[in-house]
Amino acid sequence: MRTEWTMGQKIRGQNQRAKQAGARYDLTLEQWLETLEYFNHKCAYCGKRDYEFIEHYLPVRVAGTTVSNCVPSCASCNALKDAQNHKLTLYQSERVLAFLESKGVKIAFHIHEYKATKEEHVILYCEGCRNRIDVPGLLPDEAELYIEQYFSNTGYAYQV
Ligand SMILES: [Zn+2]
Ligand SMILES: [Zn+2]
Repeated sequence: MRTEWTMGQKIRGQNQRAKQAGARYDLTLEQWLETLEYFNHKCAYCGKRDYEFIEHYLPVRVAGTTVSNCVPSCASCNALKDAQNHKLTLYQSERVLAFLESKGVKIAFHIHEYKATKEEHVILYCEGCRNRIDVPGLLPDEAELYIEQYFSNTGYAYQV
């Protein structure tokens, strides 16, 4: 038999997830109802389909379960956002950005441009944000292909 979770239980569950991840967790039922009202109970991303999930704009471990990180999402957009990994199409939804920024955060975007640098071994380094990734065993000759395959143009959205 299927269990119908009440809205309050869903929010408590999402707050619990954030707490376990060591992130902020202070989304209230009242805030969520206002959020649903704002998006007319539709998916915040496509604006067409009914909402099914409390979606975390940034990963829960990064930005937590808060009014400035949670929006309603349909199953398709939710799956697409995951599948796109760090591509920014859905992250850049103007409707979603306007809402989140009305909650007091500023969203900025950054596209990593990793280059291989040789120190004691090959490291991948983004000059834009100084992010550095160590890939044990990566050979200098393979670095370019590796970057292309896994990291090139991986975008990231972050709250300021
Ligand atoms: Zn949608
Ligand atoms: Zn970067």
